[in-house]
Amino acid sequence: GRVIPLFIVDPALVHSSRIGPNRLAFLASRLRTLHAELVAHGSGLLIAYGDPRQVILSVAAEYGATMVTFERDTGPWGRKRDREVAQILLANGLTGQTSQTLTIVPPTTLKTGTGTPYTVFTPFYRSWRNALDVHDTFEIPLLSKHPNQPSNPVWPDWPVSEVVLPESSRGHAQDLLRQFAKSALNDYTTGRDMVAKPGTSRLSPYLRFGILSAQECARVALANMPPVAGEVRSGAEVWLSELAWRDFYHQIVYNFPHVTTGSFRPVYDNIQWDNNPEWFAAWCEGRTGYPIVDAAMRQLNTEGWMHNRARMIVSSFLTKDLLIDWRWGERYFMQKLLDGDTAANNGGWQWAAGTGTDAQPYFRIFNPISQGQKFDADGAYVKKYLPELRYVPTKFIHSPWLLQGRDMRDARITMGVEYPYPIVDHATQRQAALAMYAAIK
Ligand code: FAD
Repeated sequence: GRVIPLFIVDPALVHSSRIGPNRLAFLASRLRTLHAELVAHGSGLLIAYGDPRQVILSVAAEYGATMVTFERDTGPWGRKRDREVAQILLANGLTGQTSQTLTIVPPTTLKTGTGTPYTVFTPFYRSWRNALDVHDTFEIPLLSKHPNQPSNPVWPDWPVSEVVLPESSRGHAQDLLRQFAKSALNDYTTGRDMVAKPGTSRLSPYLRFGILSAQECARVALANMPPVAGEVRSGAEVWLSELAWRDFYHQIVYNFPHVTTGSFRPVYDNIQWDNNPEWFAAWCEGRTGYPIVDAAMRQLNTEGWMHNRARMIVSSFLTKDLLIDWRWGERYFMQKLLDGDTAANNGGWQWAAGTGTDAQPYFRIFNPISQGQKFDADGAYVKKYLPELRYVPTKFIHSPWLLQGRDMRDARITMGVEYPYPIVDHATQRQAALAMYAAIK
């Protein structure tokens, strides 16, 4: 039959406080490239605006559709919408058919021996690896356009991105995946932690918007596994396990929807956070005085993306050095990230705050200086995003407040003027964090 590709822009999403201009502009860019890709296949994209619960029926009536198919979401908000749309279709005599291909293994498939959802990653991964069934890519068949379908969708005004957007075509995403498989994948086990290095795929915005499917990424990982497993896990195996983390967090959000508003382990909702708004502003703007934290936040603010190791460092810093509720950081990330994704973002934040599944225990607190020294040893990352520190000798690049005399002159910087002194003392805050967490036990 004839297929009409339809995207409904829901005002509730566009105006949500959990999305910002970057992701919206990338979505707009993707809709345009998707339209062009569909035109090349003899079709085109139809865009409708409004609440899908209302719009779907009028579009179906306009084009005489008899069946509506759509992809199901995993988060509570999207699931409620999907359920309601399905009911409306049914009540109006239309066939509804849904798919669940956002993750590699659907969020309801894997259960522990006692029939409950997994809450710990390692056993989840074992069972996920056994269940892995990677299908061939679904290529868009030749489609024919409905005679009433306009040749161009109606494009309203979309917000302007604060960052330079990456290309949004599928061809570009496929090129990135191919390049990554040829270059960084082999060395991923160690390369993925080096913040200044292009050691990861940077495919997250493409996975987030379904420009590339997680299945096709998994297929590339499997095709690049060494014939015999060595003692050290191969880059391809570790990368595959990162894709499994994505599935893991989606099944957590699906099975434990309360995580979207509170801690996975509810006892942690009793934490008495300090929530100092000035410290929060300093964190958001990258002026905490800890270079690795500030560089990472400036990367987020200027690129709409942040390296995974850096995400771990800044989330630990916000919760355990600044004693600010992880939900503040979670929301800021959602507003800025091109790959902002409820499941992965929530999982990452709860991991860092020690409130989630598989979480970092609360007493494991990252030291922002040694994290910088370990994962940005020569300070290349810091210098890229904090050019005011570019002359600082490597020895002081992660602790510029220790600069004195000649070193300070060589660094061509006046501390407290061009770059701030630390807003908090790590050792003091570490003790305060331990006390704050211990108080709820
Ligand atoms: P690669 O290292 O090349 O990994 C390939 C893909 O696997 C990624 O594109 C992503 O889809 C998935 N992936 C990798 N690591 C993780 C992980 N730890 N959890 C879930 N999926 C993962 N990822 C998002 O996609 N959206 C988010 O909003 C998000 N927020 C995060 C917040 C915090 C506090 C933390 C610690 C992590 C967050 N992550 C998030 C996970 C991870 O940081 C990014 O997926 C990764 O940095 C994207 O870069 P990449 O595509 O080069 O990843």
